[in-house]
Amino acid sequence: MSSSDSDSRDASVSTPHANFIRHLIAQDLASNKHGGRVHTRFPPEPNGYLHIGHAKSICLNFTLAAENSGLCNLRFDDTNPAKESQEYVDAIKDNIRWLGFQWNGEVRYSSTYFQHLYNFALQLIEKGKAYVCSLSPDQGREYRGTLTEPGRNSPDRDRSVEDSLALIARMKAGEFNDGEYSLRAKIDMVSPNINMRDPVLYRIRHLEHHQTGSEWCIYPTYDYTHCISDAIENITHSICTLEFEDHRPLYDWILHNLELEDLCKASDLGDSMESGYVLPEQTEFAKLKINYTMMGKRNLLEMVETGTVSGWDDPRMPTLAGMRRRGFTPASIRNFCESVGVSRSDSMVDMSMLEFAIRDDLDKTAPRALCVLRPLKVVVTNIETGHVEHLDMANHPKDETMGRRVVPFGREIYIDATDFEEIPPPGFKRLTSGGEVRLRGAYVIKCEEIIRNEQGGIAELRCTADMETLGRKPEGRKVKGVIHWVSAEHGLNATVRLYDRLFNIENPEGKEVLDYREGLNPDSLVELKNCIVESSVANAEPNARYQFEREGYFCIDEKDSRPDELVFNCTISLRDSWTS
Ligand code: ATP
Ligand code: MG
Repeated sequence: MSSSDSDSRDASVSTPHANFIRHLIAQDLASNKHGGRVHTRFPPEPNGYLHIGHAKSICLNFTLAAENSGLCNLRFDDTNPAKESQEYVDAIKDNIRWLGFQWNGEVRYSSTYFQHLYNFALQLIEKGKAYVCSLSPDQGREYRGTLTEPGRNSPDRDRSVEDSLALIARMKAGEFNDGEYSLRAKIDMVSPNINMRDPVLYRIRHLEHHQTGSEWCIYPTYDYTHCISDAIENITHSICTLEFEDHRPLYDWILHNLELEDLCKASDLGDSMESGYVLPEQTEFAKLKINYTMMGKRNLLEMVETGTVSGWDDPRMPTLAGMRRRGFTPASIRNFCESVGVSRSDSMVDMSMLEFAIRDDLDKTAPRALCVLRPLKVVVTNIETGHVEHLDMANHPKDETMGRRVVPFGREIYIDATDFEEIPPPGFKRLTSGGEVRLRGAYVIKCEEIIRNEQGGIAELRCTADMETLGRKPEGRKVKGVIHWVSAEHGLNATVRLYDRLFNIENPEGKEVLDYREGLNPDSLVELKNCIVESSVANAEPNARYQFEREGYFCIDEKDSRPDELVFNCTISLRDSWTS
């Protein structure tokens, strides 16, 4: 993969907007709540690739820290070895760097805190705040009650401290099977908040872990692990998405029922209590949702596993790996994340906002080039065979610093088949039989003759060029249309992949849809094999991006493209094809 994007490490966005979390942090700084510190973290579970929703959380956490001279950790929340892997760990690190962010210090793993977490579990048992329960997972669910019915106490709820301590030691030693016992917090089985009904803190799982190997066969739950990991890392603002709002009382309960002094000792601050140890606080914001796409990791994984897409980095995927391969720039994703804002109410963002962000960025940064997607040969009869003109063209219409290039022009060129109409519809401004059109950066040509193939289709056009029209208006007439072209002798063959939305329904994961597969767009990928691109792109870097004039923004596919067999991905068309 090309590293040219990530090397800059310039994670700025165009315009930072006010939001409630920025406001909250400003208040905490004003009241000196955490001794003036801002320390956030991004806590992915390594059970899939990052998607554009994660990018929002990454941008938020890293930007809030950077704006306040704070720190942001990267912590893998790796408590469920069944679904996690090193491949995901590596991809997540790579994607975050590519987005332009660098975490504070070493990468963290919740699993490195397993011993601390276990010690704290013993502490809760000793205080009578947790007990070992023998209900099976199914029974546990049954005893828990529902939103409308209170839960029931486990028959083991009043197990003695000694018995629970003995049992957890045996659980840890591997004496029991999965599901035989669990450790539960002793809170309140009739709480209106189901999360507070004696939640499970530890479960038995005889599984290898990608970081800790076979060291543990009991694994802590997410809720138990997350708050303690935050405390150990001295996180000040633990920012997460709204579905955890109802978990916040548990987050606070766990931390407040542990000995502050011991938390402090386990933390990065060590024994230095005087440096002002304040427990982290959780704040929730609404998840990013974008229409015509989906972000459920389970569904994305299924699409990969069933071959519905070519992999996590399929350019149609909403993953950062996919968007990168598609040609998105890190800046466009950061700007998009900033522009959608941060709020506490769920809403659906329109895909066009993401498209605007990438067009806006590439318009400024992508050099222009000529590429004919559906070639139709044109012979310019008044130019001699073998004669080549070297035309000088700007790489960017508004930015001289992007330089100029030489584009060869000769007797045989290709134009796009859709730029010629024998029987033009009203308002058609491009080439017609007997009509004139300007070739971009070159001459005005006139179509004199249509050469047909055996089936009667158009095989090629015979045209003449008005040699007085290079950089000059034609005399005595108006020629409105401008089309792109490539010299047949010099152009390079290329495969171009055009992408449409992966789904043709607004909310493939919505309640009204039985299965996301119903909404898959069968035409989301169209591969054009015989495109002709101007020769100046021959030595482009993998992932180099261009605007192919009049078509859209394209990048070289970093996996499949070869110097002698170029493959381009269409990042985004020039116009909004969805709504027009
Ligand atoms: P799951 O927990 O079901 O595997 P997840 O998408 O929540 O999926 P995590 O790895 O736990 O995956 O997410 C890491 C962080 O990214 C969490 O803090 C989570 O709240 C945040 N996040 C996930 N999806 C979104 C989203 N769509 N918008 C904003 N933040 C998100
Ligand atoms: Mg999660």
